[in-house]
Amino acid sequence: MSSPERTIWIDGRLAPWDEATLHVLAHSVARGSLVFDYMSVHETPGGPAVFRVDDHVSRFLTSVELVGLPLERTAAELREACLASVRANPGAKVVKLQAYLASIEVDVIPVDTHVTVAAAAYDPWRDVLQRKAIPPARPPATLRIWIEKERHQRRPDILHPHAKVAANYTSPMAAKWAARRQGYDEVLLTDDEGNLAEGPTTNVFLVDRDGVLRTPPEQSVLLGITRRSILEIARTDGFRVVDEVSVPAAALAESSEAFLTGTTAGVWPIASVDGHELPAAPGPISEALGKRFSEITGGRDPAFAHWLTHVGG
Ligand code: PMP
Repeated sequence: MSSPERTIWIDGRLAPWDEATLHVLAHSVARGSLVFDYMSVHETPGGPAVFRVDDHVSRFLTSVELVGLPLERTAAELREACLASVRANPGAKVVKLQAYLASIEVDVIPVDTHVTVAAAAYDPWRDVLQRKAIPPARPPATLRIWIEKERHQRRPDILHPHAKVAANYTSPMAAKWAARRQGYDEVLLTDDEGNLAEGPTTNVFLVDRDGVLRTPPEQSVLLGITRRSILEIARTDGFRVVDEVSVPAAALAESSEAFLTGTTAGVWPIASVDGHELPAAPGPISEALGKRFSEITGGRDPAFAHWLTHVGG
């Protein structure tokens, strides 16, 4: 079903939603070469604002570089594309920024190297999910997690976890489907040594029995903007935090509380791990951080006002 009132910024032009299509033989479809980033939009007392847009654009440019796309756009242009798409689409809750090779190609290296940029501002529930023939159930308030037991060919030397590129989501998709088939809500992926890494679209935090907040180190995860925000908020608020040391997968089930973070997830409490119930969901630290995070994203904490960019217009 269509979403006719939306437009998508594509190479500087606002295209109607239904016309923002890609050929079935396009390079980015065939080779998984589409790089993207995904940021949230919030209604604040000062109007709609994008959360940490410059950090998202900077992560996007890192992904572009890791994948080797010959993108000819500056950070300032990409930022403006995001803000323009939000201005043109009132009520949007997210902006998805994408760079892709739209041309039909034969080899892995394209002949036509033009990298198209698209910025789509929309409401995922209203504009996409609710329009499905059978809309999905609303997500649960707390999560039943399954830790993957067998890695699905995830190789940091082939595709770096810091690259937000379509191809990096194929292996997590297989793992998440395996978790869903067993009745779990979400999967957590492990790294080369069997330590905790991240969810398919989230980072993970746990609070150990000593009350220390822990999250897997940078080298094995996507550098989540929410992860970074939670670490900064936790340190500002005086929590004890460890983010440089690996977290064994078994530590999650032994934690006193745990949660996922992400642009869509926010701070999302974990209820159980491989069927083992955690003592509290949300636990007190998860609850406090979740509350702080929504105050900040909602523009109600002047100390973090610099994380929000009002779109104006
Ligand atoms: N890990 C992966 C693999 C992701 O795709 C995401 C979603 N962007 C995250 C973590 C969380 O990142 P963020 O907080 O920036 O949404």
